[in-house]
Amino acid sequence: MAEREAKTKKKCLVNVDMDNLSDYARVYAIKNVPIDNDVLYSNVVPRLLDLFSRYDIKATFFIVGRDCGSERNRRAVRKISEEGHEVANHTLTHTAFNGLSGKEKRFEIEEADKILSDILGKPVAGFRPPHLDFKLDKESIDILEENGYLYDSSLCPAFLYLFAERTVLYLRSKRTIKGLRPTISDIQACFAKDRIYKIEGSTLFEIPTTVLPLFRTPFLATLTMASGNNLYFDLGYPLVKRFVEIPVFRLHGMDLLGLEEDALDGSFHVHPGMKQPLSRKTDKFRHIFGSMSKDYEFVTAESVIAKGGPAGN
Ligand SMILES: [Zn+2]
Repeated sequence: MAEREAKTKKKCLVNVDMDNLSDYARVYAIKNVPIDNDVLYSNVVPRLLDLFSRYDIKATFFIVGRDCGSERNRRAVRKISEEGHEVANHTLTHTAFNGLSGKEKRFEIEEADKILSDILGKPVAGFRPPHLDFKLDKESIDILEENGYLYDSSLCPAFLYLFAERTVLYLRSKRTIKGLRPTISDIQACFAKDRIYKIEGSTLFEIPTTVLPLFRTPFLATLTMASGNNLYFDLGYPLVKRFVEIPVFRLHGMDLLGLEEDALDGSFHVHPGMKQPLSRKTDKFRHIFGSMSKDYEFVTAESVIAKGGPAGN
């Protein structure tokens, strides 16, 4: 019996957003510096696959279609899938959705879908729009449904956190990225459900990024990378473990890049956590995944939804 219980660990999701350096440069208004976006696929993907195999993690990677131009990057995406992880749609160009027309949204979703399903040789099940999180509009949900998607993962019900972060980033981008402009939906999202649920009037499920109970701030690697030692994770994790049914932990490819180790331009030091060596960030991830792997089985988002959502797991 004890053995059987040990085998039925609770489920947990790890999401990776593969936002590229050009996007960060736009957000931080970094101009006229050399940028090698492929470093995410040549350097970060192997690091992540190594970490995930060490802790027996099956993760979901949200990939930007436009980044799959070279055969080398396409091979990296294929390898992600071959190792049992899920590859999901993070749009074609990582342009914020709240400034786009219906036609443009369709283009962003469907062109990325074509690229990714062609690389994988199978349909893509999940979608996440770029630039922080807001409640996805009905038009986009309908496009996803038409294309056979199982879930959307737009929402992060972080109380005021998103509104504040979007405002800071919008100003930092010198008001050049209209999609970063805070809107009323950022405030509404603060009060949204913090659990996987079926979207009303749709066949799709919504998979929100988990927020820490009480604090309502995102269960996000970047905040641990930016905090001394592992403070953010160590404070938040006991709450997540106690109160969240299926936690969704989110990280970005950028979290595993080193300013010096990957020869990034020094101006990227403005990104949270970039002032420390890569080895220190890797240690933080080992701490995070080492702790979580004692309590959880890590599964892909698609597998949770394919089994009928949280109720079927
Ligand atoms: Zn993104």
